[in-house]
Amino acid sequence: MSPNTEVAAYMGMPHALLKDIQYTLLNYDTYKDLSFYQHKITSDNNPNVKLPDPAENSPSRTMPRERVLICGAGVAGSILAFWLAKHDFQVVVIERSKAEQKAGQGLEIEEPALKVVKAMGILEKLNEVRTGEVGFNLVDEHSRSYGIFEVGGVSITGALELMRGDLTEVLYQSANKYINVTYRFETTIRSLRQTEEQVIVDLENRNNKTMTVEEFDLVVGADGVKSRTRELVMGSPEQLNCYKPVGAFVAYFSIPKQDQDWPYSRLCHFTNRRIIWLRPIGENSAMTSATLIHTRDDVAALRGANAAGDRLKQKEALAELYSGLGWETPRVIEQMMRAENFYSDELVQVKLQHWSHHRVVLLGDAAWAPSPFTGQGNQLAIIGAWVLAQEMSRNRSPKMAFEAYEKRLRGYVEASQEIPLRGYAPYVFNPQTAWGIWLLRTVVRLVSWMVRVFSGTALARMLPDRQQDDFDLEIEQG
Ligand SMILES: Cc1cc2nc3c(=O)[nH]c(=O)nc-3n(C[C@H](O)[C@H](O)[C@H](O)COP(=O)(O)OP(=O)(O)OC[C@H]3O[C@@H](n4cnc5c(N)ncnc54)[C@H](O)[C@@H]3O)c2cc1C
Repeated sequence: MSPNTEVAAYMGMPHALLKDIQYTLLNYDTYKDLSFYQHKITSDNNPNVKLPDPAENSPSRTMPRERVLICGAGVAGSILAFWLAKHDFQVVVIERSKAEQKAGQGLEIEEPALKVVKAMGILEKLNEVRTGEVGFNLVDEHSRSYGIFEVGGVSITGALELMRGDLTEVLYQSANKYINVTYRFETTIRSLRQTEEQVIVDLENRNNKTMTVEEFDLVVGADGVKSRTRELVMGSPEQLNCYKPVGAFVAYFSIPKQDQDWPYSRLCHFTNRRIIWLRPIGENSAMTSATLIHTRDDVAALRGANAAGDRLKQKEALAELYSGLGWETPRVIEQMMRAENFYSDELVQVKLQHWSHHRVVLLGDAAWAPSPFTGQGNQLAIIGAWVLAQEMSRNRSPKMAFEAYEKRLRGYVEASQEIPLRGYAPYVFNPQTAWGIWLLRTVVRLVSWMVRVFSGTALARMLPDRQQDDFDLEIEQG
């Protein structure tokens, strides 16, 4: 097969055929001679054409490595796909949602996870899609402010705030550029069995209801808190006793933007531990992000609706919970009933004895969901993907790779899972009574005054060091 074939493909061959040719090329020594054509056919010029990484020409690239299935194209799944592609693995990523489905609201990236996205060369792209939220404003039912915290320092607003859908889109585009990565949307795992040498997986396409049986060397479950991979390989959450509820429910959705929604996020407390938090999505966006947080675990209707996965019932239960409240609540609840990107669940942490079983390994929320109260879910997904790719590339044996991955990360993950204030943060920051809310607002007013006097950064430095900032990514050896 000559390089000319690939050029011909670029001129208009069907995409599937082109991919076959590209896969064949990957197995030939001619691969290295393609640099001239690589330059001409970069995926930036034509997103339908995928090429090997032009920056790397190591001899090992002529010999493709193991075939890996990643279940879940969330943050963890796509970052892992990117780095495994760089290390010459053959990667198939399956995602149960449609490609265009961009669910979820705000996520933050900070150090040390920021180093990983910088190393991927996507920081500029992420900056282009960041929400632009400039700070956080705690308000009461009459929209009076109790404290404004500009981005950075002690503010909840991080330097790089992104909508989950924008982040996963950038990650997907970055990983999908590689010839040795294939994404399949609306696809899920039906069943899997492991042999000494392989994992045999039944894959189901939810769109055309077809089943295929495929063999992989390794499988990664990056399929979130309710991981199907985990269930198939290790057992149900009940058998594993791996869900640790944090006593709160959350709902995320978008509502039409109004003038006051930009550029600060605004959070309002209500008695009986109810919060509404409105966050900007972007200056030019017609929408605003809404989060409802309810810190109680005695809500039978909501729990029942969650268990049934019934969206309408979830919305109705939340509407009932937030009925009769002031501030902008009527507007938020009315729009919630119409929101298509509504997502709600009870918040749990995932705690497992082990993250792998033979040739199958778990990553991100599937392995260790820390809950949004820690603010570490997205961070850990990024760091975990980096470490797993590193260890899979360093160790040919899955056992050694997965053990090294767990050894490096477990202590860090467990420390990150600690909910602030000895686990009481969900209650302290979401009070039950009017008096508790008054006290919280008074403390916030005092802290915001201190921030003005000392600056947010100086105040943040006075707080105890966070172990989370210290993880060694071994990035120079990565
Ligand atoms: C729809 C959605 C909305 C979210 N919204 C927010 C939010 O607003 N704020 C916040 O802080 N966190 C949110 N999260 C959680 C946050 O994304 C994660 O905590 C963090 O980014 C870690 O990501 P992850 O890749 O480990 O898991 P996830 O982000 O949960 O990604 C898992 C991926 O696997 C896919 N998947 C699940 N099961 C299967 C299956 N059987 N087969 C194939 N694919 C499967 C899911 O569709 C998803 O794309 C949301 C998660 C989801 C899935």
